[in-house]
Amino acid sequence: MKTLDTESLLQRLIAYPTVSQNSNLELIDFCANYLEDCGATTQLVHDAERRKANLHARFGPEDIAGVALSGHSDVVPVTGQNWSVDPFNARIDDDRIYGRGSADMKGFLAAVMAAVATIPDRQLQQPLHVMFSYDEEIGCIGVRRLIDEMKTWPVLPSRCVIGEPTSMQTAIAHKGKTVARCECHGVAAHSALPHLGVNAIYLALDLIDEIRALQGKLIHSTPANPYSVPYTTLQVGTIEGGLSVNIVPQHCRFDLEIRNLPEDDPGALLEHLNAASAELTEHHQQHFAEVGIDITVINQYPALDTAADHGLVNWIKSLCDNDQHTHLAFGTEGGLFQRDLGIATVVCGPGSMDQGHKPDEFIDRRQLADCKHFLGRLIDDISVN
Ligand SMILES: [Zn+2]
Repeated sequence: MKTLDTESLLQRLIAYPTVSQNSNLELIDFCANYLEDCGATTQLVHDAERRKANLHARFGPEDIAGVALSGHSDVVPVTGQNWSVDPFNARIDDDRIYGRGSADMKGFLAAVMAAVATIPDRQLQQPLHVMFSYDEEIGCIGVRRLIDEMKTWPVLPSRCVIGEPTSMQTAIAHKGKTVARCECHGVAAHSALPHLGVNAIYLALDLIDEIRALQGKLIHSTPANPYSVPYTTLQVGTIEGGLSVNIVPQHCRFDLEIRNLPEDDPGALLEHLNAASAELTEHHQQHFAEVGIDITVINQYPALDTAADHGLVNWIKSLCDNDQHTHLAFGTEGGLFQRDLGIATVVCGPGSMDQGHKPDEFIDRRQLADCKHFLGRLIDDISVN
């Protein structure tokens, strides 16, 4: 069997332009064949159109709980970014490897594939599951199909490491995310006769005022905590409404994002905004029944919150030779694994999110080597001898 080192694997993976809108099947086929050559049993879980797939590869016995290593195969777009190198032709430059996905997070995928090449010579005491998902960058979409599939497994992994870039620090928690679409319905009228209509843009602005007031309240009332932004955030990211300056606008729509601390319930925040919407539109509805604001959740994943003294946390820290743990500003599929499958989960991977999603994304070669070393120790730990 022909195995490759971590850096060669990373170069291969970067060459597949798996921007979330594209198919990831060529990359997944390459990884599946490689992992099968290393002794894995593999399974693909496709999307509805069969343009994309999650890959699950299992090494070792099926009938006992084991360890899962999880990461995403998709990358964010490069369109409009000013790259000085070809984003899909990895370039090694002194201590760094440049390319889209080098840090977020094909570096981890490459380190996993390099590390499992030792498994044919070993005997695993418990299974090692490798899971590469699609469409993570657009809201942890793809992995949900894999999670549904996992619900049918006789035995689930008991522990999971997600290899998002943390500079190989053990992250035990991150915020959840909710995206909600707010549709404001007014009544159109001639702008010279505004009293005959209800301005939907003004309805939107009134609700946005409520959102900003709620944000202010959260900033001042949230107890101190280890997050770099130590409170739940709300932001309006897009808005569109109105047809023409001489028409009272009938429709206005904006998208709201909530990034919640594990202890804050985004459902309760949305309830608060629903109540505010009802209050804002009540007096209009006496004259115009069609006036209203509809708030619809269009994407959501939960926060991750693993106890600092959980056995998994101590195990991963010892394998990394780093006694510290951290809380992340960005989200992962870890909250879904924890909530939907009860799998203890931490995030630990090579590279830094400081370089993620940016032009000239890179990973330090030292980080890749450290990750490969960490994974080697992890495999040692679950092997006989
Ligand atoms: Zn990522």
